[in-house]
Amino acid sequence: MEKTGAKKIGVLTSGGDAPGMNAGIRAVVRCAIAKGMEVVGVHHGYNGLINGDIEQMDVRSVSEILHRGGTMLYTARCLEFKEQAGILKGKETCEKMGIDGLVVIGGDGSFRGARDLSLAGIPTVGIPGTIDNDISCSDFSIGFDTALNTAVEAVDRLRDTSQSHDRCSVVEIMGHGAGHLTLDTGIACGACAIWVNEVDFDVDRDIIQKIKSTASNGKHHFIVAVGEGITDVHALAKEIETKTGVETRATVLGHIQRGGTPTARDRVLATKLGVHAVELLEKGIGNRVVVIKGNTVVDYDILEALQMKKGIDKKLFEDAKLINI
Ligand code: ADP
Repeated sequence: MEKTGAKKIGVLTSGGDAPGMNAGIRAVVRCAIAKGMEVVGVHHGYNGLINGDIEQMDVRSVSEILHRGGTMLYTARCLEFKEQAGILKGKETCEKMGIDGLVVIGGDGSFRGARDLSLAGIPTVGIPGTIDNDISCSDFSIGFDTALNTAVEAVDRLRDTSQSHDRCSVVEIMGHGAGHLTLDTGIACGACAIWVNEVDFDVDRDIIQKIKSTASNGKHHFIVAVGEGITDVHALAKEIETKTGVETRATVLGHIQRGGTPTARDRVLATKLGVHAVELLEKGIGNRVVVIKGNTVVDYDILEALQMKKGIDKKLFEDAKLINI
């Protein structure tokens, strides 16, 4: 029997915010309306499904958001949704409002919720939105390119002042345990050391000796890029200063990396993924994650997607060691 497609879909953003989520919301809303569906926006992640905090959307509801960071639907973590009772409340809200399809923009955790909701009978499709780029099944997630450019601009500024004072700058970069943002920022900024979770790293070998050998061939300022949660960057700065004699400062870039105008690349990615998600729901297909692989939009079963593994680009990491000397 042919599947019946969705007539009224919802869209929500969940977990950490990422620049470009708005472009994804816009694509979902406009595409769904163009296909004759009704669309609602769910506020504050899965909380909105539980509380019924939901707004009707029209084509103008998503005007003037394409170029804005953050998410017009707000985002949140919702512990209640990790329990079966929370999922059932979400399902009941959908049934009461006639929502027969949902698009969730978020990370791995949000996809688990999307899977649970699909299994409960509401076809739900996930789109990767996180600056960490730690969604294994996708080459890129919405927000990564913007965060990378923000981090690079910030480190370029630190470089100016480090260079003027012959200093070393230790920079902590976000990533939630994943090294993609730190590695790419380190490459783009010529960091003399890049410390990410995914590699074997030794402070004496990979930072102190590197600074000493680099200093011996005429360099006087240094950038050390460190992924968040790996070490206390302020203590590391003191250790570097003590062991090398180079004045060292630590900077934690923090939430600056989450905000700002999304890059063109993130807007295009969000648009492609958003449209594909609606096309799936139009066919009545849920329990999928929509991602980008080799510049092609593809979709996977959520469980299959959650089981995939993606490391950092180890070759790129080794190349950085050769080049940033
Ligand atoms: P991200 O989506 O960025 O990985 P989280 O891991 O914080 O962020 O998850 C976001 C939200 O997704 C959680 O607050 C919760 O509402 C939902 N979620 C996370 N894990 C599960 C799970 N195992 N089952 C159902 N919902 C979940």
